[in-house]
Amino acid sequence: MMVSKAYFEKGADRWFIRGSSDEVTTCGICGRSELKGTMVLETPDGETIYCGSDCGARLAGKPAAALRKEQKAADDRKKDEERKARAAAQAAAAGDEEAKIMFWLRSQYPQAKATRDPRDGFAEASGKSWFQLRKDWAAAGKP
Ligand SMILES: [Zn+2]
Repeated sequence: MMVSKAYFEKGADRWFIRGSSDEVTTCGICGRSELKGTMVLETPDGETIYCGSDCGARLAGKPAAALRKEQKAADDRKKDEERKARAAAQAAAAGDEEAKIMFWLRSQYPQAKATRDPRDGFAEASGKSWFQLRKDWAAAGKP
């Protein structure tokens, strides 16, 4: 979208940089197209605009280099949050899997002794390695 001139008259300190975009390559302020990427700015009205770094710097009243630094920090924060969320999801999935395997093994080998590491008990009761037991579970359709 193009930004009306009225935006320029609002306080520059109320513009927020929200990161960068590779998908939008047209500056929403001057209309220049085929940019390598755009900055994602939030206007004082809470609207999102995409613009080139020069226009963004003019809007925010800061040097382009300073703005790019802020943009990078915003991008890094976002990436960090995404990485944490992915790790948490993976951990949850791994925990689920472990619980499912244990439950299944208990139904397969009810005679297994309670050992400090339950895997040892199942390995002993089945005469199979933990690796093989995992394979059995997978072959059973990961019930
Ligand atoms: Zn521009």
